[in-house]
Amino acid sequence: MRVEIVAVGTELLLGQIADTNSKWLGEQLALAGVDSHFHQAVGDNHRRIVLALRTALARGDGVITCGGLGPTHDDITRQSIAEVMNVPLERDPQIVARIAELFASRGRAMPESNERQADVPHGATPIPQQLGTAPGLLCPVGNKVVYALPGVPYEMQEMFTRAVLPDLRRRQGEAGETGVIVSRVVKTWGMSESGLGEVLAKRIAALDEAGGNPTLALLASGIEGIKVRLTAKAADASAAAALLQAEEAHVRAAVGEAVFGTDDETMESAVSTLLRAQTKTLALAESVTGGLIAARLVNVPGASSWFRGAVVAYDSRIKHSILAVPEGPVVSEAAARAMAEGARNVLEADVGLAITGVAGPEDQDGQRPGTVFVGLALEEGSEAVELHLPGDRERVRQYSAISALDILRRRLLGVRA
Ligand code: ATP
Repeated sequence: MRVEIVAVGTELLLGQIADTNSKWLGEQLALAGVDSHFHQAVGDNHRRIVLALRTALARGDGVITCGGLGPTHDDITRQSIAEVMNVPLERDPQIVARIAELFASRGRAMPESNERQADVPHGATPIPQQLGTAPGLLCPVGNKVVYALPGVPYEMQEMFTRAVLPDLRRRQGEAGETGVIVSRVVKTWGMSESGLGEVLAKRIAALDEAGGNPTLALLASGIEGIKVRLTAKAADASAAAALLQAEEAHVRAAVGEAVFGTDDETMESAVSTLLRAQTKTLALAESVTGGLIAARLVNVPGASSWFRGAVVAYDSRIKHSILAVPEGPVVSEAAARAMAEGARNVLEADVGLAITGVAGPEDQDGQRPGTVFVGLALEEGSEAVELHLPGDRERVRQYSAISALDILRRRLLGVRA
């Protein structure tokens, strides 16, 4: 089955809100094994909504709309669907009564305009509302279908799961289609997109030749590194998981320790896993990142079992007095090592991680913006790594935080950065 998504709302076109509904629906359709080749966003304009619906129906078997089911005059999804179905709208007294009840339960009278939400195109089936006021609609158009869902994300999601998904499954069954499409994201840090592309080129070509299942795609995600998306089609979720598992092993073997996690795993959760496994505690000394690394680490539930704390030593005098950094330039390899040792000692941790550098826009200690030193102090001694990071002040600070965590991660894995 091919189903298109049509998101309705002028605010989407004006960039006032992001179309997260289409993103969520896209994921759900993929999980259900339904192909979705086009997404449209259209403003609150009758003629253009009708055009979007006709276009989508001409290309596919069904359409899911979201938004434009509210009580005001610019909520015109219902009328547009009725026109595409070539039928009149009929007011459903049961829906009017239900909306009135909802208002009464909140101690309010129903404004007359809300009655519009009880208008149903002739031949369509309302999807009863459970969370908001607008019911959804299931509208047959010949042997195709338009599902109309509200725009409010949690209402839309609840209605999709309760009413749309079962109807799609039934239609898939009638068409003799079963199966799921599942994706997994493998996250990497430290390689360029082109470098990663070269490493994976052979594997991507081999998969293509073998029929393109699973597939691999590279996604750049800025300060969080480059991702490799693996997508598998299979008869059921466990068969898809097996394909993804095998493919993830291929990718990990090709890419090596640049892989720091999959799906919801983050650089900080990868560090947390390693520290826990090695029963080590961590202390930080942050200068250029001003607490960003500590903030990332405490995102990980249970961080208190391994994270001792951080000294945000922004002023040089603090580096000297609290962390015992010797006099001299504070943006240097020696300072980074001394900061890491200082944090390890003062906060009584097994590992000290420190960062000092220049976020810009001005030079400091004769160093250019983007020059950063990461220090590591362990029982066996200390070391420092010099980095040259791109971008403005904000990007340098963000890159500094993830780079420092990656250096620690690689060191805990036993590999040099
Ligand atoms: P209701 O009658 O339940 O309010 P509706 O169908 O009239 O819903 P809209 O008025 O179009 O929905 O949108 C309601 C709100 O839902 C918007 O202000 C916006 O916050 C959110 N919303 C709408 N469309 C989307 C979308 N595509 N992605 C994310 N959020 C959306």
